[in-house]
Amino acid sequence: MNLILGGDSVTEQVGTSPTATIVVETDGTMHLSDMLTPAYPGAGATGRNVAADSFDSVLLAPETVAWRRGRQELCSTCLACPVVRACGGGLREHRYKAGTGFDNPSVYCQDLYHLITHIRKRMVADLAAGPAASLATGPPATAPAS
Ligand code: SF4
Repeated sequence: MNLILGGDSVTEQVGTSPTATIVVETDGTMHLSDMLTPAYPGAGATGRNVAADSFDSVLLAPETVAWRRGRQELCSTCLACPVVRACGGGLREHRYKAGTGFDNPSVYCQDLYHLITHIRKRMVADLAAGPAASLATGPPATAPAS
């Protein structure tokens, strides 16, 4: 909802805002993201370790900067998609395919498109109905008694 209303993403799961997260494994190795691991062995590895390297050295490394280009790292299909700002191609590992790497739409593309357009339609309808319509439904069942 925040992305549809023009906000920025605070997660690498949706949206096109670059993230600034480094994952440290239990052996001290530093990775771009542990969520990349299913793509292929070593997908998120940086070759750096907290025992010898600073976090800045990883965040500012060319491969990290290239990986976090946000919208610029998306494939042409995503760039032409009407919901790309909210979707951002989904999770990066869901875009991986042998042969084309990460230059693909998400394997969950149809689901993402359906979910985002559904949320947007619902928000537009609720906003068009105005505050009186949402007040008429009353508080949620879990709201505390006042
Ligand atoms: S819905 Fe599909 S084509 Fe559109 S941005 Fe998301 S993954 Fe890409």
